[in-house]
Amino acid sequence: MVDKITFESQKKQIDDPLKMKSAADEKNVIQEVDKIISDAIETGATEIHFEPEQEGYLIRARQGTLLSEVGKVQEKLKGNVANRLKVLGGMDITKNKIPQSGFFKIQKGEKKIELYVYILPTLYGESIVIKISYKVSATMRLNQLGMNPNVLNEYIKALAKGSGLYLITGPPGSGKRTTAYASILEIIKPQLLAMGFDPIIKYEIAGMVQGKPEEKSEFTFAEAISSLMKQEPDIAYIGDITNENEARATIQGAFAKRVVLARMTANDTINAIQNLVDMGVQPFLLAASLTAIINQRLIRKLCPACRVPYQVDEAIQRELGIKLPENARFFKAKGCPQCNNTGYQGVVALFELYRPSEELNKMIVAKETIQSIRAQAYKEGLISLKKDGISKVLMGLATLEDVLNSL
Ligand SMILES: [Zn+2]
Repeated sequence: MVDKITFESQKKQIDDPLKMKSAADEKNVIQEVDKIISDAIETGATEIHFEPEQEGYLIRARQGTLLSEVGKVQEKLKGNVANRLKVLGGMDITKNKIPQSGFFKIQKGEKKIELYVYILPTLYGESIVIKISYKVSATMRLNQLGMNPNVLNEYIKALAKGSGLYLITGPPGSGKRTTAYASILEIIKPQLLAMGFDPIIKYEIAGMVQGKPEEKSEFTFAEAISSLMKQEPDIAYIGDITNENEARATIQGAFAKRVVLARMTANDTINAIQNLVDMGVQPFLLAASLTAIINQRLIRKLCPACRVPYQVDEAIQRELGIKLPENARFFKAKGCPQCNNTGYQGVVALFELYRPSEELNKMIVAKETIQSIRAQAYKEGLISLKKDGISKVLMGLATLEDVLNSL
């Protein structure tokens, strides 16, 4: 299996790290680590964790939302494992008391896979995470994301406007990138120029030009955004906005008649507005450029073959504060052969869509409190994440607990 894979390290002096001269133990470790990576890729895992324990490493891989054990390493080989990963990632093997990060690529058949390695010194040694990024063609369409029909229609209408700022928000791991690319697929045309800049390029779209910051690059992310906008794309996609300069460059770009899609971490759509204002964005600039904000979550999807319905009692109804249909049923997980006895299969997304009205824009410009802006948005029909979540619980797609825990 390992020999089908070509490791491409960042540091050029290591032409073929698989052929490093090493003691028997180290050679075994190299093979073992490479096999773990290769197997993880085979199963479509997105992360591999080397968790230092008092004795050795516990190795777990993440598929979907869950981690499962894929191996163990003895105490005496811990250092060799860390070294192998440092070599692959182009890091300094002489240092083990500082956080380090690195990057390498694997070519597997037609697939190009990027691996990001993060190392953190901890009590029992270096904790190591490999994040695996499979570059694949973006194929998910908006209508496959699980948006409720009202939200989907409203969002497609917003995209059809064809200009302004579209924020895709949510916590890390909530599927923001997938939504962003599905949005681009919705509006991209051969006669338009689409460009993107993102720290991790996960998807490719035919006809879209994409770039990413290199490790230790000499320009900031904000400068890259400004320079991308100067190339006059009709559709611009910006990876995570994290500070004032990036926010400003992004919003500036949205003033030309173009679609600017940007990802950002936020708890809900109204919270995203507050985050931008807290970063130092002028409220009137934000109000003038904003076309839509999406906030989302990804949670486990109940296995339809074995989920168990139960009657919702009044206490839960009262606590939820949301009016449910009569004789409403929720579902809980059980487990069957179809879902590997986990009770869950795949994921389901929750969405909240904010569209600015004249009144809401006025309130933003007047710097009204986030509470009153939120109240106004609800009054105008904004479906909160919680409401969307409950509707998915009623459909038997998710448990109430998972929805509430995700908020
Ligand atoms: Zn099942």
